[in-house]
Amino acid sequence: MTGGADVPLTVGIDVGGTNIRASVVDGEGEVLDTVTASTPRSARSLEDGLARVVRELCGRHPISGVGLAVAGFVDEDRATVRFAPHLPWEDAPVAQRLTDRLGLPVILEHDANAALWAEYRFGAAAGGRNVVLVAIGTGIGAALLTGGQLYRGSYGVAPELGHLQVVPNGRACPCGKRGCWERYCSGTALVDTALELLATDPQRSKVLARDALRDPGSLTGRRVAGAAQDGDPVAVEVMAEFARWLGLGLAFVSDLFDPDLIVVAGGVSSSAGLFLDEAREHYSASITGARHRRLARIRTAQLGEAAGMIGAAELARAALEVPQDAMPVSPGR
Ligand SMILES: [Zn+2]
Repeated sequence: MTGGADVPLTVGIDVGGTNIRASVVDGEGEVLDTVTASTPRSARSLEDGLARVVRELCGRHPISGVGLAVAGFVDEDRATVRFAPHLPWEDAPVAQRLTDRLGLPVILEHDANAALWAEYRFGAAAGGRNVVLVAIGTGIGAALLTGGQLYRGSYGVAPELGHLQVVPNGRACPCGKRGCWERYCSGTALVDTALELLATDPQRSKVLARDALRDPGSLTGRRVAGAAQDGDPVAVEVMAEFARWLGLGLAFVSDLFDPDLIVVAGGVSSSAGLFLDEAREHYSASITGARHRRLARIRTAQLGEAAGMIGAAELARAALEVPQDAMPVSPGR
């Protein structure tokens, strides 16, 4: 697709637990305008807030459609939010409610899927055929692209790679299970591993031990990565442990999907220089039959935090090209 006046502008919205960020995005994936607001607590006020930011952008640009990137389970019709742990929606027909208010077509997409679609169209996944994206932040968000199409599974929830169990009876996970991959390979895991190492020998890292003693909450993944950058021995060991789990997990995922490209996204990817080469070594050491197969390239994402918005806007634009009678939209109320 090429840009220009004939390509409609759409709005992509990242609906986070703390903030709503809405951007007007053109056909080249360029962000033209952005509005942010805090995320209201109730479903009705959230929908009011979303309608308000879209109307504000519609006042400045000719908008043809809206895409929402949602951290949660989105039905395969991309119109209903089944469950979102940080949002007040449960079995909510969000697309139809917003269409009723705005008079614009609205689609929903899982946030990692939206981010992968943006990277595929405009960023690090361009040219990939079968791509896995892992967005590593507080946990792991994951998305799959096969043959140039997002893979959503049979019921819209694939893939939950972050909750694959890698350690039987391992660290407890908020999902209710134990030993999930994201408990060992996330920003949260950097802190947990650091605290475990400090508990056995606090003297090894005066810097991190001081932080942890003064205020355990002050120790963040970013802080650990910064200390590793400065050569702190505990932080360096934490990053090595993280690299090992990233490589092992990606090998597991590759044994399942055999991708040609893996994109590492999310907040932790900004510290990729501290772990990615080592993760690649663990990856090729643990994948099945490494010497007899081509291995996926592993790259970092290019579009940063805007990826979800850009992808949602691009998916909304693609939906405009589908004949209206083929769209899964029920009659207005
Ligand atoms: Zn879990």
